[in-house]
Amino acid sequence: MANANVLEQSWDVVIIGSGAAALTSALSAVTSTTPAPKVLLVDKAPEAWAGGNGYFTAGAYRTQHNGLEDILPIVSNVTKDMEDKIDLPVYSSADFQDDLQRVTGGRSSKALGKYLVGESLDVVRWLKGFGVDWWLSFRRQAYQVDGRWVFWGGLHLTVKDGGKGLIKNLTDAVKQHGCTISHETAATKLLTNSRGAVCGVEVEKAGKKYQLETPSVIMCAGGFEANPELRKKYLGPGWELAHTRGTPYNTGDMLAAAVSLGAKMVGDFSPGGCHSTAWDAASPKDGGDREKTNEFTKSGYPLGLMLNAQSKRFVDEGIDLRNYTYAKFGRAILEQPNGIAFQVWDKDGQQWLRDEEYRDEIVPKIKADSIEELARKCNAEGLVNPSQFVQTVNEYNAAVAAHREEHPDAKLNPAIKDGLSTQSSKMQLELAKSNWAIPIVKPPFLAVKVTTGITFTFGGLAINPENAAVLREDGSEIEGLHCAGEMVGGLFYGNYPGGSGLTAGGVFGRRAGRAAAERAQTSKRMEKL
Ligand SMILES: Cc1cc2nc3c(=O)[nH]c(=O)nc-3n(C[C@H](O)[C@H](O)[C@H](O)COP(=O)(O)OP(=O)(O)OC[C@H]3O[C@@H](n4cnc5c(N)ncnc54)[C@H](O)[C@@H]3O)c2cc1C
Repeated sequence: MANANVLEQSWDVVIIGSGAAALTSALSAVTSTTPAPKVLLVDKAPEAWAGGNGYFTAGAYRTQHNGLEDILPIVSNVTKDMEDKIDLPVYSSADFQDDLQRVTGGRSSKALGKYLVGESLDVVRWLKGFGVDWWLSFRRQAYQVDGRWVFWGGLHLTVKDGGKGLIKNLTDAVKQHGCTISHETAATKLLTNSRGAVCGVEVEKAGKKYQLETPSVIMCAGGFEANPELRKKYLGPGWELAHTRGTPYNTGDMLAAAVSLGAKMVGDFSPGGCHSTAWDAASPKDGGDREKTNEFTKSGYPLGLMLNAQSKRFVDEGIDLRNYTYAKFGRAILEQPNGIAFQVWDKDGQQWLRDEEYRDEIVPKIKADSIEELARKCNAEGLVNPSQFVQTVNEYNAAVAAHREEHPDAKLNPAIKDGLSTQSSKMQLELAKSNWAIPIVKPPFLAVKVTTGITFTFGGLAINPENAAVLREDGSEIEGLHCAGEMVGGLFYGNYPGGSGLTAGGVFGRRAGRAAAERAQTSKRMEKL
């Protein structure tokens, strides 16, 4: 751990944060110029909470790729004999761009998207050179269909040991490259010179303030997802009650500091403008659990149903592959009475639930031998209308049966949108379940109570995608100030294609690091003149 002394030195590059975007920026900065710049990372969290939200992730990175020929040279968990049993569809740049625009209603910045998509695979290959141990994501992003691993949803790469592994790999590399990390060091203010260029950062450690001189600052301090007041202000009433899925330290301090210098806020600051998921209602409210991390996620709804406290369905659980719905269904849950919902499966549906999220030790389970009994037990957990619960499930089952009768050859396939639906010529539900509509009839039945877990906020700062420099309202760059990761606005609106956050932090972090190092080098040359 860095001692206070490092806060009394000047630095070539100061990076705020110690999450994936910050660590990637540091690796880029330190390898971009010769001699390497002196790089300091400051994070307000204690070392035990280092790694920001990155630590809590599944380590999933979305990249465009050309199928196995691109992926096999990157990953370390596929043996020769497994290669023939994998179906990995090509995920082209156009596919990634389309997904980005489709799920954001066409609002994602095309300029940012071009860089994100175009460099997505390259940044992953580059990070491999720093020791990131990439895996093909068998457990999260593939189903076994007829003896083959069938990948789906455009999200295929992860890191061994998920976010924990990612942050360890990156932190080790950053330290090996001579960067310094100062924990429990909160950035409180950006310092500027007479030209309005950033020339330092004020930080606070153990109650003492320090002014760090530097020509280049990269802000990777996250969004404001862990700040209930700001959530209520920007996302709307009720959002102060959401559970924080990851670090409790992303409270929007640097967004405010940059805005006070004239930085432009862009992107989705509208009500509910954030990434949020179905999350264990029994999880801690004000921040994640460092052991369980992502395991409170409850994303098994595509093979089941979600009912609110009034026993009504409120989303089409099968409208799209999970990677394109999970980040917006948190908002849908928050909008329900008391901000809760019950996920429901029968015996057949339960076999598709992933152990990581649904094993007995990780989530309180409500089990019953009949739907009536399940309704009574859910009633004790906050469901107010048990008879409606039975009616909702019965109506759903009737609609599934009618569809089956009309399509006797239709077969469940969770790796594609299989068209197994509740809508037939004989019967339609008011709210369809469009795919994977299997009957809920076989005991034992299972329900799990969920609430909303907020992941990160979508609105952020405007940047020049070329160098990740922060922009003012008039489009000019604030000299010496860059940002990456969650702080960047304009990419995500209303929804999000799973695995894009880490990739965005990688792409723009790499660009920010390079530009910051080059600026530091130039400013040294100028000093010598
Ligand atoms: C449970 C969970 C699962 C996720 N899974 C995935 C996934 O699999 N794939 C994916 O792409 N995305 C995932 N995400 C989203 C992903 O975590 C983010 O997109 C990404 O990690 C953001 O990186 P970042 O570096 O911008 O922020 P962070 O990693 O959150 O880092 C921000 C850091 O800044 C520090 N900080 C804040 N304010 C200050 C200050 N004033 N001074 C100093 N330091 C400060 C914080 O302490 C923190 O360490 C997940 C998020 C969560 C919570």
